[in-house]
Amino acid sequence: MDVIVVMKAAASDDDVARVADRITELGLVPHPSKGEFRTIVGAIGEKTPQTREQLEQLPGVDEVMVISQPYKLASREFHEADTILDVKGIRIGGSHVNIIAGPCAIESREVLFGVGRAVKEAGASILRGGAYKPRSSPYSFQGRGREGLVLLKEAGEELNMPTITEVTDPRDVDTVCEFADILQIGSRNMQNFNLLLEVGKTDKPVFIKRGYAASTTELLMSAEYVLSQGNHRVILCERGIRTFGDDVRFTLDVSAIPVLQERTHLPVFFDPSHAAGKRDLVPPLALAGIAAGAHGAIVEVHSSPDRALCDGPQAVLPENFARLMKQMSAIAEIVGHRITPWGREEDRARRRVVGGWGG
Ligand code: PEP
Ligand code: MN
Repeated sequence: MDVIVVMKAAASDDDVARVADRITELGLVPHPSKGEFRTIVGAIGEKTPQTREQLEQLPGVDEVMVISQPYKLASREFHEADTILDVKGIRIGGSHVNIIAGPCAIESREVLFGVGRAVKEAGASILRGGAYKPRSSPYSFQGRGREGLVLLKEAGEELNMPTITEVTDPRDVDTVCEFADILQIGSRNMQNFNLLLEVGKTDKPVFIKRGYAASTTELLMSAEYVLSQGNHRVILCERGIRTFGDDVRFTLDVSAIPVLQERTHLPVFFDPSHAAGKRDLVPPLALAGIAAGAHGAIVEVHSSPDRALCDGPQAVLPENFARLMKQMSAIAEIVGHRITPWGREEDRARRRVVGGWGG
């Protein structure tokens, strides 16, 4: 996109439609975005010197701005305020902090439902579990595929929690959409552009994990691929990058959290588990990320990590996760954020009655 058209506060829907039609006529693609006070219309494509002048003259138009960043729809220039997503009644972004938790992989009904119940009780608002696992070795457990997705959907329904799972192949996107509420793009697929285009055509929120050798600008460009297809519900996730340090599996780039937040309006999460690689390091990294102002974290939890089929060494036990949730909640409050336990009003009300923390 080359320009954004900022509509006047008093502009009518007809004014916005006229601007969109004119943008199409100029051979560009219009991207309207309705804010609380005014509507902005992005125009993507090669602009001519006249584009700006012509659009400026249309009724209801306040100003036409050129966006300098290579990522356009993802930039704060395009959308100044934090984007707040609504996923099944849970608000993500802004001052809301959501914790996604669950096992690395969907292994069995017992583990998924047991861990799911425990993390929900502790205050996590979204359930994770991988059905398609991108493993470094072809001989490692590859996930239970569709069978896993069925279990995840059942767990989400029973626990009344939105679910997230990774999709690794453009051919699986439709299937995963049937079973999960949020589509996860893994670190290894951050630049799988066909996959990004495919999830961009769905109406599901997309959670993009930073490639472990990718810059923050490259992460934002990956988000742009999804946004360019009309799917404006994107969440970014810092998950650790490759450095010379070998004490940890990856190095959590804590500074990427505020850096991204300055450049984009999209919610920014982080993953202390895959960065740490060891369960004892998960709590300090989790607290650091929340203190840095992240909009949420994704944490791996397992009831018997020594029997886990994937990432056991970095999985925290449910009781330790519950303690960590309390600490994260306290830190979130200090930085002016608030952890959303269970997210929904009815759940929060119930939690107040049972006398838990927060809510
Ligand atoms: C995961 O979250 O299960 C995962 C595989 O993470 P990443 O893509 O960041 O390695
Ligand atoms: Mn994992």
